[in-house]
Amino acid sequence: MIELLTNLKLIFFVMFFFLMLIIESYYPERKWSSGRIIRLGFHGLIALINTLIMRVPTLFLVVPALLITNENKYGLLNSSEYNFMTKALLSLLLLDLAFYWWHRINHTVGFFWRFHSVHHLDTHLDVTTSLRFHIGELIFSSMFKVILIFIIGIPISIFIFYEIILSACNQFHHSNIRLSEKFNLVLEKFIVTPKYHTNHHTVKKASREANYSSILTIWDKIFFTYIDATKTEREYLGLDDRDKEFGLINNIKHPFIQ
Ligand SMILES: [Zn+2]
Ligand SMILES: [Zn+2]
Repeated sequence: MIELLTNLKLIFFVMFFFLMLIIESYYPERKWSSGRIIRLGFHGLIALINTLIMRVPTLFLVVPALLITNENKYGLLNSSEYNFMTKALLSLLLLDLAFYWWHRINHTVGFFWRFHSVHHLDTHLDVTTSLRFHIGELIFSSMFKVILIFIIGIPISIFIFYEIILSACNQFHHSNIRLSEKFNLVLEKFIVTPKYHTNHHTVKKASREANYSSILTIWDKIFFTYIDATKTEREYLGLDDRDKEFGLINNIKHPFIQ
């Protein structure tokens, strides 16, 4: 079952990625400053290497955690009498809340920022940015998932469903898709939109160290971390360091040479 669900996740991941890639080609918000082919090639290469390496922590950490908690009915939800739908909704809410804090920790704790800053070194933002993560961050993130699986007690199918939703949302909010002002306003009352997440990728620190939500925007509102940037600020993205955007070795070495 896990194999089937993981394949399903990969199929959705690829389909949604290309859908976003096509839409942003027709309705871009910003002009691309560097070649789109180079971006796709470089970020695609990172994703390929990461996917291969991540099979190890997935197989030896995440999958055993899911099997152990579900067999032994560990965790808050597994030991409760709620029906499946309630468990699904609570799992999704708690995971989204936990990942709000995980993202915030990645910015505020120096050690984790060394890894997460590789994602922010990108001076542009499009769907390929959603592939750009340091392998170290992904490994720490899967350890964090193991802790959550044990505490929350998440059913296997719901966990995979969450991963599919999260990766679709990730691709959507990193995309360079232009939405009308009105539609964006309505949408960002509920979920993170491309404009909303662009605020988080500004060089300007105030809006970069804010807007941490991944799926639902409510967490930034509850914890007072929603900060809107200006249009000009949304056109200057990345970090002060403008030279490390590309280069595989540079990006892999980045957390260790600061
Ligand atoms: Zn971030
Ligand atoms: Zn991002």
